[in-house]
Amino acid sequence: MFEKDRNYWLYISPHVYCNLKERKALLYNTHTGERIESADDKILSLLHLLHEKKNLGAIECRGDLLEQEPYYSFVTKFCEKGMGNVVDKEKMPERPIQLMPVLNLQRDVEKLQKERDRHTGEEILHYLLELNVYLYTSCEQHCPFCNDYFRQSLCCTAKHSAQSPETLDISTLQNILLQIRYGAVGKINLLGGNILEYPCYKKLLTLLADFKDRVRIWNHYANFIDNQIVTSDFLYEVPVTFPVDKNTWKYCITLLKETKVRYHFFITRVEEYEETSVLIEEYGISNFAIHPVYTGANHPFFEEYVYTCCEDIFRAKFSFRQLFVHQKLNTRFFGSLTIFPDGNVHADTHNPALGNISTDTLLDIINKEMLRNTAWRKIRDEKPCSDCLYQYLCPSPSNYELAIGKPNLCHVIKS
Ligand code: SF4
Ligand code: SF4
Repeated sequence: MFEKDRNYWLYISPHVYCNLKERKALLYNTHTGERIESADDKILSLLHLLHEKKNLGAIECRGDLLEQEPYYSFVTKFCEKGMGNVVDKEKMPERPIQLMPVLNLQRDVEKLQKERDRHTGEEILHYLLELNVYLYTSCEQHCPFCNDYFRQSLCCTAKHSAQSPETLDISTLQNILLQIRYGAVGKINLLGGNILEYPCYKKLLTLLADFKDRVRIWNHYANFIDNQIVTSDFLYEVPVTFPVDKNTWKYCITLLKETKVRYHFFITRVEEYEETSVLIEEYGISNFAIHPVYTGANHPFFEEYVYTCCEDIFRAKFSFRQLFVHQKLNTRFFGSLTIFPDGNVHADTHNPALGNISTDTLLDIINKEMLRNTAWRKIRDEKPCSDCLYQYLCPSPSNYELAIGKPNLCHVIKS
């Protein structure tokens, strides 16, 4: 294929993502989803050369080198998978410059860190995309993992604080809404306890009139007991925990039939998954989500059904943008704040509060999160993920890692 005494340009296409570690490398074609992995020192050196800034994604190679193994097999595969090409230097004397994408997200959060002594301005309010507001912690249900569900996925909780039930003052909510009136917040999740029992529940309709399309009311299926309180103005997000009481369930389904609703099934074992499938089928539920819950005693369930393996990761196709974003931001946490009835505001409920809404503005709190990074920019940069080729293909770290106390929930690298 290559003439020994000729010189060639070997170049890598700009749509190929490369993760180079000390002893191994991954090349991933973001157009086709195909990949090459190598642990060969010679190939690693070749890839390092290709990625040296001065080489602009193209290096000159002698034909006799390209004819030798392991180069020949690698370059053949590399070209077949559309990751780049080899051209005769005589036909293309000039370096085929590849404009390799650089990490340059438009609103690069790290700029804020460099500007920590300067006034950051109101524009950072646009980073806030989602607000979770717990209005009331009282609830008469006895779900077995009330204090765990909400720490792993969004859900109601009655046990945020050990003291008596807490209530967020309606004037505080009013103040929060005033602050986000011109921001980018697209989702306002209102949660409890039994939020329908929130003393000012009926006032919410008027208060939230300007935010209607963005409001989601979270209430457990067993807490829908009164048809006076349901309105078609909001989307209802309905947690379902097990065991399910069939009569209460049927009442809830009937009550919410004409409203915008999504059901959230919180499952701790495979039998609950099976029961969920039956409920979905039997009641024709089309809008739903299933959330595994780590209880401290169901590790085998997580290992079997939640942990990812290599095939799971590559089932999806990743764009360059997604891979870049995973290197900068936590796609689960970024832009989201949670406010509890005591006013404490968290970027992630596993971490200490960033401030209190009675004394800090949302702008102050966003600024603190940008600088402290309790959640928004948590990426897979710690071991073992930092040593793994799939580091930025994997989804951002989630609350499950924190709940389980493991940095990686996968079968790829044991930790
Ligand atoms: S319904 Fe929600 S708040 Fe009430 S006990 Fe169950 S999980 Fe907790
Ligand atoms: S070790 Fe980390 S980056 Fe690698 S596959 Fe597992 S979770 Fe993903």
